[in-house]
Amino acid sequence: MVKIYIDPGHGGTDSGALGNGLKEKDVTLAIATRVRNMLVNEYSNATVRMSRTGDQTVSLTQRTTDANAWGAAFYMSIHINAGGGNGYEDYIHSNLSDSSTTAQVRNTIHAEISKLIEMPNRGKKKADFHVLRETNMQAMLTENGFIDFASNAAKMKSSDWLDKVARGHVNGLEKAIGLKKNSTPPPSGSTLYRVVTGSFSTRNNADQRVAELKAKGFDSFIDIFTQSGVTYYRVITGSFKDKANADEQVNDLKKAGFDAFIIVV
Ligand SMILES: [Zn+2]
Repeated sequence: MVKIYIDPGHGGTDSGALGNGLKEKDVTLAIATRVRNMLVNEYSNATVRMSRTGDQTVSLTQRTTDANAWGAAFYMSIHINAGGGNGYEDYIHSNLSDSSTTAQVRNTIHAEISKLIEMPNRGKKKADFHVLRETNMQAMLTENGFIDFASNAAKMKSSDWLDKVARGHVNGLEKAIGLKKNSTPPPSGSTLYRVVTGSFSTRNNADQRVAELKAKGFDSFIDIFTQSGVTYYRVITGSFKDKANADEQVNDLKKAGFDAFIIVV
């Protein structure tokens, strides 16, 4: 399992930035909760811990101590910007080189968030933030738009936009740190119904059956398979996507004097 620590910025008595009727602490929690739900519901190898799941006051030291004690593989801190700008940017710690693993992981996540956030891209940045400096694992911090910029704030009030931003974080994490989607059932239409007209332990007998079928107008081929160490030669007279067509072939074969049955592959 890959341990991912999700840190919604601020909370409780610390509202974070304010603007356009919004509090940063509420927007960060809305995004972080969506990120957690997507990771937990859609991936087989992601396990998530959050610095807060409601409107609690949690200090920066409590957050990084908790993530370090848990042994997180990745720390994702989610924030909203303020101060008169417009758009998205993200941060890794100032001491990290551009060729570091964390920088490469950030590049991937930055690209995926930028695709979906519907805001100008303000670039990939570095800073000496507490959560980037005091964490023992790879860490990044996202600033998802400016709460005091009207058009950015308008998006923050849209559930669709919150979903998209969360999806950007999740898509980035999937690509960057090797998350695996839950296995999905094979698409319908991939099932084949094969008509078997004899299963033999020797090739000669199977060849003889092919010749008999040919004499009565049925094309066939031999499928070799091994079960419990024994090899069988199965004579196949057709593979069908529709079971009805396979049934019809079985009937035709029986009328011509051949025993036949269907296997599903
Ligand atoms: Zn913040």
